[in-house]
Amino acid sequence: MRLSLALVTAFVFGGPTFAQDPSEDLCPDCHTTGRIDVDIKPQETEFEQNCRKCSEQMRAHPESLGLPWIPCPKCRTPSVQARAQREFDGEFGKRKAWLEAREAEVDSRTKSTPVHIETEHFVLTWDIPKLQVGRVYYDKHKAAHLYADRLELLLRQTHALLGISESETNRTQHRVVILELQKHWQQIAPLMTNQGGGGGNGTSLIGTGSYVAEATGAKGSCHIMWLDKKEIREDFDLYQTLTHRVSHHLVNDVREHKWWLFQRYGWVYEGLSFYMEIRNFGPPRVRCGREAGVFEHWKGKNWEKNVKAAVMANEYPSFQEILQKSVEDLNSRDVQFAWSWVDYLMWYDPTRMDEMLGLMKGERQLATRDALKEAYDLTVPQFVEGWVEFVKNEYSLKPKDGPTARIPRGRDKNPDDDLRPTIKPQ
Ligand SMILES: [Zn+2]
Ligand SMILES: [Zn+2]
Ligand SMILES: [Zn+2]
Repeated sequence: MRLSLALVTAFVFGGPTFAQDPSEDLCPDCHTTGRIDVDIKPQETEFEQNCRKCSEQMRAHPESLGLPWIPCPKCRTPSVQARAQREFDGEFGKRKAWLEAREAEVDSRTKSTPVHIETEHFVLTWDIPKLQVGRVYYDKHKAAHLYADRLELLLRQTHALLGISESETNRTQHRVVILELQKHWQQIAPLMTNQGGGGGNGTSLIGTGSYVAEATGAKGSCHIMWLDKKEIREDFDLYQTLTHRVSHHLVNDVREHKWWLFQRYGWVYEGLSFYMEIRNFGPPRVRCGREAGVFEHWKGKNWEKNVKAAVMANEYPSFQEILQKSVEDLNSRDVQFAWSWVDYLMWYDPTRMDEMLGLMKGERQLATRDALKEAYDLTVPQFVEGWVEFVKNEYSLKPKDGPTARIPRGRDKNPDDDLRPTIKPQ
């Protein structure tokens, strides 16, 4: 009896093994574990599988804040109960602090009750009361989990494409806030990203030592946006918009991050996000930068066709010229070529991209010319020549609507099969 109890105790606590004090009684309430299960209905946990914390779950069970057990309240075995209580207090305290911080950050400022979810790599705040997904309406809680899962999927896809593991990133926990109303965004965006609150519908903070870093313990990655109906009419639009923007954060988290790509390497910064848009959704829709207004397509929505026609006519812009530009300076033609150059490198060898990113935004901040040479072993003339061939062979002049997931050179399948979204416009 004593032996088996000790085993139970070891199993339950997972730490050092203590049996209860021999002078104490066994407890029928908790079977001398010190713990009582919280009555969580199976339907309540339907969405909770992939998340660490969820404000809905916490608020539904204030006694445990979503933990599956509480300390045995009238325990007959005080020594066991005391250990359970200590463990519980630690976890409960962390959860309480987390929820209070999220509420102070958003709820108390907007006077609303968004859903806050923490997954392995994201803290998502979601305040869209109702979202149509396909033919079904999702309530706030369900839609929040859908988007939390989509964010995690995007991260896995990005890592699979680049052929990297967690150890080649900074393991930042990214903060994403999606609000329904512009006025709420105007209240919070300046506090969370040090900018925004005027026009536009989204702001990002990609850096260190920020408000976010202090508030979330993350290294500083935050995107906050509102549902601007002029640009975002349905779930598909929102998913695509978020994919473009969050891709900036994910790419900046790869390898070293001393600088961000925005200023010195506009073509890589935007090129990679457009690459993800076209790969997952089709024609791009998202422009970044302070000027970003309504999206303009140079010569129309089919970027493959536009680039190929320019290459065939020998009328493409100079790579040397565009690689000097910051994101702010890229015009609607430049971004199509920026995308195409990234598309070429991701076809040529996607597994060298992370090295190039590290060389650009790490300590060395190499010029594009040197980073290309070191990561891809290509000189600029070799790069341009290879790209021209690639465009001639791989791009089509035919009209195209849906996504394009080109298989990299020398492979027989895509590294992100099963990780691309399957959503279509409604
Ligand atoms: Zn939940
Ligand atoms: Zn008990
Ligand atoms: Zn962008």
